[in-house]
This record gives sequence, structure tokens and C-alpha cells, in this order.
Amino acid sequence: KLIVFEGVEGCGKTTQIVRSHQWLQTTFPQAKVVVTREPGDTHLGLELRQILLAKTTEHPISELAELLLYAADRAQHVAQVLKPNLADNAIILCDRYTDSTIAYQGYGRGLERKIIDQLNLLATGGLESDLTLWLDVDVEISLLRIKSRGASDRIEQANLAFHQRVQAGYTQLAAANPQRIERIDASLSEVAVAAQIQNVLLKYFDN
Ligand code: C5P
Ligand code: MG
Repeated sequence: KLIVFEGVEGCGKTTQIVRSHQWLQTTFPQAKVVVTREPGDTHLGLELRQILLAKTTEHPISELAELLLYAADRAQHVAQVLKPNLADNAIILCDRYTDSTIAYQGYGRGLERKIIDQLNLLATGGLESDLTLWLDVDVEISLLRIKSRGASDRIEQANLAFHQRVQAGYTQLAAANPQRIERIDASLSEVAVAAQIQNVLLKYFDN
């Protein structure tokens, strides 16, 4: 199963993936649980991540080039990590996937949705998430969390309006895909968010 975690900067994805991993491993000891992320879980992906998230804006990357680099990371990730692990019946917990591209490059940067959908389809070969957990938190709160943790990357330094567009993108994606996307209230404490996620996962694996 491919389970994707999505949300704006500072929504707590990475922390919650670690918790979900531990919980799944305890609850289903016989399962193979794999944690992965985009961008950056393959050798190529890590190089792309370093280019995409450089702290300097001295050599700006064009919006289209950025879109294509994320797509290249995804194509490699699907081929090298996602498909083989799914074939091995693993439960994959993936930090960001196709919805990130729609939210960031589509709603955030304003690139055409049709092009993004075509690229997502090309990069994934049609592989969709089985379940997407959207960690929903106001950007005012999440950007404060980011600031308190220090060093920020190129995107995290972008203006509030950009992050609000990204957040609006997630809101619309969730409304349009109620079957696939489960909204999690990520404004609560770490433990309370983890409990919500566990409930969703329990329900999901029960069916
Ligand atoms: O989730 P994480 O912070 O590790 O993601 C890496 C960064 O890449 C984020 O800062 C996010 O803003 C950015 N990103 C993006 N477009 C994507 C995926 C990630 O701008 N499609
Ligand atoms: Mg980030």
C-alpha cells in the first residue's frame, strides 16, 4: 500500500511519519513498512533535492525547470523505490507525492494544471496513492514552527502569500478527492495528531 503524507511546511509530516512507522511496526509486526520521501530518496533524487532546496537564490531556477526536476525525482523514485516495494507487498509511508506538485507548482507558482497532471502521469506511470493523509494546519502557525527550528530552505523562505496559495491548493484537492484524501487536524499536539492518524490507519487496514 502506498500511503502519502502531505501538507505545507511545518505541518509535522516528518515527525508523524516516524511515529506512524513505529506504530505500524508494532501493530502489524509481520508487515514490511518502508519510509521514503520526495524529493530525495534515491541517489539522483538527493542530488536534485540539493539543487532544488539550495539556500541561495543567486542562480534562480525557472518555474518550468523546477517542475521538471521534481518530475525527474519522482520518475526515479517510482521506478527504484515505490514499484519494487509495492511488488514486495510493503506498506510505504511516503513524505510528499503528486499532490505536492499540484499544490506547490500549480497553486503556488501558478503553472498550468493540465501540464502538471500530464507530467505526474508520465513520472508515475499512473501509480496513485492508496491513501493520502493531509496534515492541515494554518500557514501562520506552520511557518512559526519552521522559524523556531532554524535554518530554512529556498522554498521555506518564500512569502506568506505563496504558502497560502499552497494551502488553498491542498484544501481544494481534499475537497475534490474525499475518497483518497483524509484530512488530519495538524494544529493539535504531536500526540493528538498521531492519535488521529492511527485511527485513520486502523480503519483503512480493517477494510
Ligand atoms: O517536506 P520537505 O520540507 O522535506 O520538502 C522539501 C521542500 O520542497 C519543501 O520545502 C517544499 O516546499 C518543496 N517542494 C516544492 N514542490 C514540490 C515538493 C516539495 O516546492 N513539488
Ligand atoms: Mg520543508
